[in-house]
Amino acid sequence: AGREALDRWTGPGRTADGTPVKLLANVADGASATSAAAGPVEGVGLFRTELCFLNRKDEPSAEEQADIYSGVLGPFGGDRYVVVRTLDAGSDKPIAFATHEGEENPALGVRGLRLSFDNPGLLERQLAGIAAAAERTGTETWVMAPMVATVAEAAEFAGQVRAHGLKAGVMVEIPSAALLAHQMLEVVDFLSIGTNDLTQYTMAADRMATDLAHLTDAWQPAVLQLIAITAEAGKIAGKSVGVCGEAAADPMLAAALVGMGITSLSMALAAVRPVGAQLAAVTMDTCERAAEAALGAVDPRAARVAVRAVLSAG
Ligand code: PEP
Ligand code: MG
Repeated sequence: AGREALDRWTGPGRTADGTPVKLLANVADGASATSAAAGPVEGVGLFRTELCFLNRKDEPSAEEQADIYSGVLGPFGGDRYVVVRTLDAGSDKPIAFATHEGEENPALGVRGLRLSFDNPGLLERQLAGIAAAAERTGTETWVMAPMVATVAEAAEFAGQVRAHGLKAGVMVEIPSAALLAHQMLEVVDFLSIGTNDLTQYTMAADRMATDLAHLTDAWQPAVLQLIAITAEAGKIAGKSVGVCGEAAADPMLAAALVGMGITSLSMALAAVRPVGAQLAAVTMDTCERAAEAALGAVDPRAARVAVRAVLSAG
């Protein structure tokens, strides 16, 4: 979208012909939530709770967690909502009071939801803190788990979240979760695709390795196929399927994701305006053709060229 369209765009997220797409912010703490709340977003699609605890030696009590989470939920009262992710400790985000020491291969180790299940008190205290913050602020609060591999994990997590009266979802970051999206949606209320890890695990390429950047690219056809499977399952189930990884911040890819059936995009605040302006410039039919073009390409470069052609033709 050109400079003028960018300046003119004020939200909310929708295609040129009026299909709503929720544009949400990724936040890390109360300060980033307060800035995001002043922006053109309908809520928070990813609150990375582990980032609140990177410097902590000991686990904060449920009460202290409630205070911290209230600082994030508070600015999003009214008709907005916040998706809180439970602790994603381990691998690239070591948390002193949770992470397993000495794993040979931490990206494939006890991390994310696996850690929370490994220490059930940890998950229960975090859910109590989230529920207390939701109650205190009155903000609509959804809770999702990171690094979910099986339907049984999703069902167990959803049961615990719903016991606190909150909406429950899981992230799709492991190829198994994408392939089982249909079954996952039978036990949860929503899915959110974490394209950073989904790409890492699909391509067997470390997301931190700069010399593997050609592989850690969400435009890789295999990654796009898994996203499409997940979005299709969401359409059939009539449930929300969002994207909250870096892919959501790429305006061209965002249009293709919407064409696949993705209903929300969560990103760094700075990306919301370019993505919103791109979606406002194209119809749903164009998004669907962009999705088809991307899914038919043999590599990321061809996918980008094909989607650019579809979007600029309108
Ligand atoms: C992801 O993996 O895409 C994601 C959104 O989670 P994080 O980047 O925090 O691992
Ligand atoms: Mg992740």
